[in-house]
Amino acid sequence: MHGPKAPDYIRNLAVYVPGKPIEEVQRELGVSDIVKLASNENPLGPSPKALAAIARALPDLHRYPDGSGYALRKVLAARQGVDIDEIILGAGSVEIIEMLARTFLADGDEAVFSQQSFVSYRLAVDQVNGRAVMPPATAGRAHDLPAMARAVGPRTKLMYLANPCNPTGTYFTRGELDRLLGEVGERALVVVDQAYREYVTRADYPDALEDVKRGRNVMVLGTFSKAYGLAGLRVGYGIAAADVVATVNRVRSPFNTSSLAQAAAIAALDDDEWVARSREHNLRELAFLEGELGRRGVCFTPSVTNFVLVEFDGDVRELFLEFQKAGVIIRPVGGPGLVNCARVSVGTHSENLRFLAALDRLVVVKARP
Ligand SMILES: *Cc1c(COP(=O)(O)O)cnc(C)c1O
Repeated sequence: MHGPKAPDYIRNLAVYVPGKPIEEVQRELGVSDIVKLASNENPLGPSPKALAAIARALPDLHRYPDGSGYALRKVLAARQGVDIDEIILGAGSVEIIEMLARTFLADGDEAVFSQQSFVSYRLAVDQVNGRAVMPPATAGRAHDLPAMARAVGPRTKLMYLANPCNPTGTYFTRGELDRLLGEVGERALVVVDQAYREYVTRADYPDALEDVKRGRNVMVLGTFSKAYGLAGLRVGYGIAAADVVATVNRVRSPFNTSSLAQAAAIAALDDDEWVARSREHNLRELAFLEGELGRRGVCFTPSVTNFVLVEFDGDVRELFLEFQKAGVIIRPVGGPGLVNCARVSVGTHSENLRFLAALDRLVVVKARP
């Protein structure tokens, strides 16, 4: 073994398993024409305006980016109606999730998040030797916000809420969030991760940006990786009170967002039409996918996002490999309350048909006597 011994909390870290890249599956299985429905990417691709902005920025690649991301923060601030110093940028919002843990969790300090929520919360907390407090989700796989409020103790510094939640696809309402924020008060910074916000059309969905503006102890997170179609560039943002942002900025790597990411994000923000088209596509195809699952008697959790959590009868690890052989990459999830579940992203219509065809062959047929 080379190198010094890492502390136990590092050696014991779970390894994040990303959705398999298409090229890797092609190499491993020798199958071509692969459909990736594993990482909740925008099936329509990036905004053409973002692509044009990247092309325009290329000749300056020898220059370091603006480390503060001033121009992007300025556009974001104007759009969101906040001050520029209330915005922090990250190499994806996952980096901000990690910066928050580094900033606020000293050894043994606690972060509360739902047991059936985004894996990055767990990794962020474990990496800094913090303590993860994870109340189980409700029977409907939603955040159990009253239980989460009760889990806040004297050592709690952070609460991560995914709204909507990955991998469950569920959301909580304005009334539920108000109650939670009332109960938590100033005892913890409540981080509301809205990575899928652009897809949600429910009237009772709360945009936690309103809570930041009301001076509540909240940071809201957004990303360009999902509806904006820029997952490969790595750019996301957090909005909170200026003093919270200034504190988190102390642990930010100086040039954490690239010049191309900043340029593309600015252009993508100016392409409402692309986001609207992506949302409409998603609503249509999500309804189609859920309808087809229902018709086949396959269990799933109703979703407001661009993916569906499907619950299989059989071993999901085996099924995942079978789907892969059929050229369809889905994302197995696991852990308490999610046994034999997989997350399936909404693709193009033909990609969704490919998934359903494989499902018929691998699952539905078997289920019939
Ligand atoms: C995809 C996702 C993100 C965004 O990740 P990036 O680092 O911005 O690509 C954040 N939170 C949740 C819950 C997600 O599913």
